[in-house]
Amino acid sequence: MSAGRASRLVVPANVRRETERHFRECGKGSRECLTFWTSSGTGERLRIARVIHPPHASTAVTTDLTGADVCALNMDLIAHGDRVVVQLHTHPGRAFHSQRDDELALVQTNGFLSIVVPRFAGAGILGLPECYVAEFRNGSWDAIEGDALESLIQWEA
Ligand SMILES: [Zn+2]
Ligand SMILES: [Zn+2]
Repeated sequence: MSAGRASRLVVPANVRRETERHFRECGKGSRECLTFWTSSGTGERLRIARVIHPPHASTAVTTDLTGADVCALNMDLIAHGDRVVVQLHTHPGRAFHSQRDDELALVQTNGFLSIVVPRFAGAGILGLPECYVAEFRNGSWDAIEGDALESLIQWEA
């Protein structure tokens, strides 16, 4: 059981809708899709500034960023003065963190969050329906569950 050490996130409605649109339009119900949420804030409440949908390869069960994609993403972050605080990707079936997901996360610093969305985000992400959320902490991924998950995100209308 996570103690909920992750920062709380404030997610504006436009960020949520744009994320769902990427999952729908890129994934087309048959391929995994990958997005990132950024913030320029610090502290216990992080307001999400924008969603980034990087160019990425994908199959029904994987997503991949090339080194050049990661480089372009980092340049974009420098230009905007923000940083990636959450990684989100879809799965064809149930949501969980595969070993590959553990190893290939873009950022591996304490507090970084990974959200896995089941069934190609067919049910959207509002309220994180059946999503799996993990927080990177001291070299490993801890699942965030229960009350900690309930209070993790404040969804703006
Ligand atoms: Zn995509
Ligand atoms: Zn995965």
